[in-house]
Amino acid sequence: MSNLDSIFRDLVIANRILATEEVVDAYGHVSIRHPDNPNHFLIARSLAPDLVTADDIVELGLDGQPVGNEKRTLYLERFVHAAIFEARPEVTAVVHAHAEDILPFGIADATRLRPVIHSGSFVGSEVPVWDIADNFGDTNLLVTNMEQGRDLAKCLGGNNVALMRGHGFAAAGRSLIEVVRMSVYLPRNARALLRAKQLGGRIRYLSQGEIDARNRGYSPYSTETWRAWEYWANKAGVGDLLSRPEA
Ligand SMILES: [Zn+2]
Repeated sequence: MSNLDSIFRDLVIANRILATEEVVDAYGHVSIRHPDNPNHFLIARSLAPDLVTADDIVELGLDGQPVGNEKRTLYLERFVHAAIFEARPEVTAVVHAHAEDILPFGIADATRLRPVIHSGSFVGSEVPVWDIADNFGDTNLLVTNMEQGRDLAKCLGGNNVALMRGHGFAAAGRSLIEVVRMSVYLPRNARALLRAKQLGGRIRYLSQGEIDARNRGYSPYSTETWRAWEYWANKAGVGDLLSRPEA
């Protein structure tokens, strides 16, 4: 079995995990950069993530257009992925989702969404908020072309996550496991922060030192990291697709 087969399986697993963990619903998507061609990426055709199988994965270029003769309908917002892969050569996987718990932090500017729980540390110390209206005025809020995607990628900068005002978030990771984990814990971190705000008093965010310490202990294929991936995949009913890479 070729490496590409296991990449396809991993992408199916990622889709199913994000659906089961309610990061995505009918909408939202996850992609991975093509392992053999950094100017291409792999993503499902326009389909709810919970329904994605290996046959639904398409190959797109960094302009968001299909490679080869692809006739199936594609995600309208595939340009989120294309522009982030274009801007960030070190990024190998991207998630875009509309998870409800993060939305208030893109709407109200009184409280910044930053890590407050240990598992939220991988979000990073800065989570910029992108407002499509700043440069594009009144739109349907969706990222439907490269110009909008590049504007979002510019706002994301070197960060791991950007919120999209009134819409959702975009997350960029060095591996599929990393970006899925980030996307699962981002809404949990947001919920904890929102509840802490309700209790009142000073909000204690994770310090930069704590975030750095968490990052130092992270390895994409460590036993601890794999444990979460394996758990989520089985919970999502796709444990049979798991293939653990060499550490
Ligand atoms: Zn969207």
